[in-house]
Amino acid sequence: MTGIQHQTPATFPGRLEAAKDLVARIGHDHQPAVFACSFSIEDVVLLDLLLRHAPQVEIFTLDTGRLPQETHDLIAAYADRGHVIRVLLPQPDAVEQWTAEYGVNGFRHSLEARRACCEIRKVRSLDRALAGKKAWLTGLRRAQSVDRQGLSLESVDEGRGLLKFNPLLEWSDGDVRTYAQQNALPVHALYDRGYASIGCAPCTRAIAAGEDVRAGRWWWEGEVVKECGLHARPQQRNSAAEALS
Ligand code: SF4
Repeated sequence: MTGIQHQTPATFPGRLEAAKDLVARIGHDHQPAVFACSFSIEDVVLLDLLLRHAPQVEIFTLDTGRLPQETHDLIAAYADRGHVIRVLLPQPDAVEQWTAEYGVNGFRHSLEARRACCEIRKVRSLDRALAGKKAWLTGLRRAQSVDRQGLSLESVDEGRGLLKFNPLLEWSDGDVRTYAQQNALPVHALYDRGYASIGCAPCTRAIAAGEDVRAGRWWWEGEVVKECGLHARPQQRNSAAEALS
């Protein structure tokens, strides 16, 4: 993936203005564009920025079939506010086949099974959502993980043949919390129960003080890179160690 360098504003108001300008530019110059919203706190911030500054960008979320009820409640809360959110489900035949091969909780048994589960429940749905689009946006931030230090604000997703934007890349944890509070955004209920990074229910746990933000994801796997393949090129998807763009 080819990254384009930008100067990072030194203050939150500066980073906010830069994000507003970028999403407005994406909405204007790179249609059709889509935002993959996971309903993390940074993603509801980006959702709000898009609705205000680039409402033409389509918003979708990946319902893996194993999400916590609290994620569904949050999706419903935004839908109740009138936001149009496309919900993509995995192909039933693929889930059935995976379950027959690995067992209903087979992601716990091997890295291969876990990657295959993420592939059919997340990556293939993402590919469907991105088909025919010119750009996609994510709420990825450098502060989320040491494994995300190499990301770019704007890059070419060579594997999928479109542009990829991370408008909140340089935002701090405090930036996203401040924006969410100032704009009274509903946020995920599990944050109040010690969760820092929230994915599927069986693959996410709360973290202890001092643990890495991503430590609660696939914790039984130890030191492999904590990613599901959504941000990998196709040839990288089965290699978690190389899963980041
Ligand atoms: S996070 Fe867990 S349940 Fe969700 S798709 Fe990946 S392996 Fe499957």
